Amino acid sequence: MFGALIAKIIDLLFPYRCLKCGKVLDSAGYLCENCVNEINFITPPYCHQCGTPLHVDKDSNVKYCAVCSRQNKKFYRLARSAVVYDNSDKNLIIAFKFFDKTENANLLAAMLKVAGKDIFDAGVDMIIPVPLHRSRLLKRRYNQSVLLADKLSQMVNVPVDRFSLIRHRKTRPQVEFSGRERVANVKDAFSVRYPDKLRNQRIVLIDDVMTTGSTLKECASALRKAGAKSVDLLTVARVVD
Ligand SMILES: [Zn+2]
Ligand SMILES: [Zn+2]
Repeated sequence: MFGALIAKIIDLLFPYRCLKCGKVLDSAGYLCENCVNEINFITPPYCHQCGTPLHVDKDSNVKYCAVCSRQNKKFYRLARSAVVYDNSDKNLIIAFKFFDKTENANLLAAMLKVAGKDIFDAGVDMIIPVPLHRSRLLKRRYNQSVLLADKLSQMVNVPVDRFSLIRHRKTRPQVEFSGRERVANVKDAFSVRYPDKLRNQRIVLIDDVMTTGSTLKECASALRKAGAKSVDLLTVARVVD
């Protein structure tokens, strides 16, 4: 009771403001309606393999982006994201704060379902969220990717495995680094505890934001080593240069 009252007073003194434009919000939240409307959803045409938006006509025959047409051997089968972020720090911080809110999990999982249609059409046996190190999990109390994976699982009727893949080495948040440092930060940080469960499975990895893809790459490599048949990547947002 007392706590609720304090919270109310704090709200009056410090109303919620839109993280992007600073406008005072009518209710608790992170972004105002205008800024939500500005979210850049990825719609066709996009690359059939990596899912990056293609800057071609809607009825063009181009199926793959320049990178994927040059090199089609990838560490994953398909990659999809619901939303694009340009590569500015401010946008990234907004993304992380917005996605880190448990109340948004249902909405974000619904976005994953839509964005992941090609992946689920191609066939998936198991959903695996990108794991946090247990020390970080203790501090944050929950893993946003697990929340998303659980909600998505109910929507698409595919089971979640949140125990087989682990982050056995503590890593710094990737947002603190750029390019090459990110690769080093997560190198060999993941391993599989129960490879028998993953053998020959078609797995979709879930994360909130994909920036350089280093974390997902390390996860995929651990899963493939454990005998996974295929690995797809599905994230709510991705950074596109
Ligand atoms: Zn705004
Ligand atoms: Zn591509």
